Amino acid sequence: MHDYHVHTTYSDGDLLPRMVAAAEDAGLDGVGFADHCNVFETEGARAYRDAFGFNLDLTYERRRGAIERWRDRTDLRIYDGVEMDYHPDYEGDIREFLADANFQYAIGSVHAVDGANVHDREHFGGLSTAEREAAVETYVDRVCSLIDSELFDVAAHIDLVERNPALRGLMADDHYRRITDGLSGSDTVPEINAGRVLEDYGEFHPRDPFVETLLDAGVGFTIGSDAHEPGVLIDSVDRLEDVVAERGLPVVELDL
Ligand SMILES: [Zn+2]
Ligand SMILES: [Zn+2]
Repeated sequence: MHDYHVHTTYSDGDLLPRMVAAAEDAGLDGVGFADHCNVFETEGARAYRDAFGFNLDLTYERRRGAIERWRDRTDLRIYDGVEMDYHPDYEGDIREFLADANFQYAIGSVHAVDGANVHDREHFGGLSTAEREAAVETYVDRVCSLIDSELFDVAAHIDLVERNPALRGLMADDHYRRITDGLSGSDTVPEINAGRVLEDYGEFHPRDPFVETLLDAGVGFTIGSDAHEPGVLIDSVDRLEDVVAERGLPVVELDL
């Protein structure tokens, strides 16, 4: 099994050597480091990068050196990936950065809607039902344009809004259908993402009914623990192996 979605201290995860060791302990054949990266030239995006120290746009070569040294010391395959924030207004900047940086693969993510992080319970909890429905509509629009852009190998956690109790349950069949139609005609592959499976949310992304829609359309999945800590990586890979086996999910291996 290949886990293509692991974070290190090059964004908001744990130390790279600890994550490599966890990937070995989990029995993975391959691990891909996909640290957060944002290249939006807005004041808000810059403030966010500064506040959280998300600097992969500046540090990817240093991380690449570390990955190359690790490759000599383990049988585990280690991949040099990225989790890019996506917004349709910045496709040109993203394309240019990805061409320059030349990662082995890129995961695309919609993490924010109308300037608010999708996880923000206070912000979305304070909106009316109509406003929350509109936010989910915008989220789905963004995911569809992410897929249409063909900028990414993988589309991350394609129902991330489900993680926020204020937005949960607002994604419906027609949203599943729109995203599924986009994926059916695209080279971008969705992932089975275990980012919150061990926490209160307790489910994978995408949720079961969405997975059914994707399966009916013949869409396959990459595997992503979205782990930020070694213990979580090991437990998440366990859960991912179970769900892949139980549901007979078609797993896609990236051609790297
Ligand atoms: Zn993400
Ligand atoms: Zn992630």
